[in-house]
Amino acid sequence: MKLEISKVVRGCRLGLLNITGQSEQHSLEVPGCLLYTRCATVPHLTQDTLHTLHNLPAVTQVTLESLAEHQEVLEEFKHGVRKFAGLHDTLLFCSLRDPAAPHPAGHVTNKTVSVWGSGGRIEMSVARFMAMQAAVQPDVYESMADGETWPENTTRKRVRKAVERTLSHLDECLELHHKAQELKGSDIFGVVEGGDILEERLRSARETAKRPVAGFVLDGFQTTSMEQDLREKLISAVTTELPQEKPRLLRGVGRPDEIIACVEAGVDLFEGFFPFQVTERGCALCFKYTITPDPETSGTSPPTVLESNGYEPAVEQLKENGDSSPENMTQFEMNLKDTRYRNDFRPLVDGCSCYCCKNHKRAYVHHLLVTNELLAGVLLMLHNTAHYLGFFHALREAVANDRLQDLKSKVLQ
Ligand SMILES: [Zn+2]
Repeated sequence: MKLEISKVVRGCRLGLLNITGQSEQHSLEVPGCLLYTRCATVPHLTQDTLHTLHNLPAVTQVTLESLAEHQEVLEEFKHGVRKFAGLHDTLLFCSLRDPAAPHPAGHVTNKTVSVWGSGGRIEMSVARFMAMQAAVQPDVYESMADGETWPENTTRKRVRKAVERTLSHLDECLELHHKAQELKGSDIFGVVEGGDILEERLRSARETAKRPVAGFVLDGFQTTSMEQDLREKLISAVTTELPQEKPRLLRGVGRPDEIIACVEAGVDLFEGFFPFQVTERGCALCFKYTITPDPETSGTSPPTVLESNGYEPAVEQLKENGDSSPENMTQFEMNLKDTRYRNDFRPLVDGCSCYCCKNHKRAYVHHLLVTNELLAGVLLMLHNTAHYLGFFHALREAVANDRLQDLKSKVLQ
């Protein structure tokens, strides 16, 4: 894995991450996001409908949490999740947990962590975790970590313990990694913990950076786990400690305003779960991200995004990162279940080139939502994914052209 940074502007890193996976090589532009899946499938979409979208991320995220119940089947299958799920033209990044699912706290020990499948809790030791990785056969995966520092009032002692356990899990994972034939050619990311305590964050970053890892996952910064100002301050401190040539992926942050702030703090990669959460609450992303073209670079910007229709929903604090319920709607989306869209014959977003916007109107998607038709989820997921990927494209253009401030004003408008 090689990260080539072409430009750094006020903390934002623009570059290309070249990954030689288990069998093929792909490149991922940074700042960028991974393609979100559940059970190795983009929710609502078949591979055919997914590939109507252009410029999909070269890396798909799968989670042990959604695959743990299928361990025996995957072991019997022997060829890994990519073949099992019929995914093509993509690399796999395997995370421990689903970023869009809630996680009850209080189920970790010195030697184990827990994930939640449809049948309940599954306890993972490092041995089981690594056996799962050998069955999944990802190109990149994050080491096992104790990330339970997000509940409010987590004590300093508990945070210190999380850092120690995570380093110890990483050492054990690295030892087993080198012995596993199935993981030859795979890379491992170390997980940086430390809650909201600066010294622990720095210790975790420095110690993890001493290990032979290909990149870093910054954990415990999930939306609602801490105030944005503190998050930015801690991430900036952590990224200063990390080697410049290795990528940093931030877990659990997906809102466009938070993405921009975290890119300024030195983050390269994000999980792409936000469009799914928006889809699940019957909403469509409609925020603007096109800045007035610079005469020197005109023609390279994404299509113009017009007003939704002046409707500004109330911004509510997300209760939990995994919550996709309607009351957690953000100012970046419109609620198509609202009766105001019953006779609105415009596309979701004017100028959007996704299948939904080219072929359907807001009124039709409203009708599908209120009659509980499955097609509503398909159309919304297509549009929301296209809109979100368009935003990341605009973000990279803004960094390349020194226009991040303009993008920020536009997105927050
Ligand atoms: Zn669209």
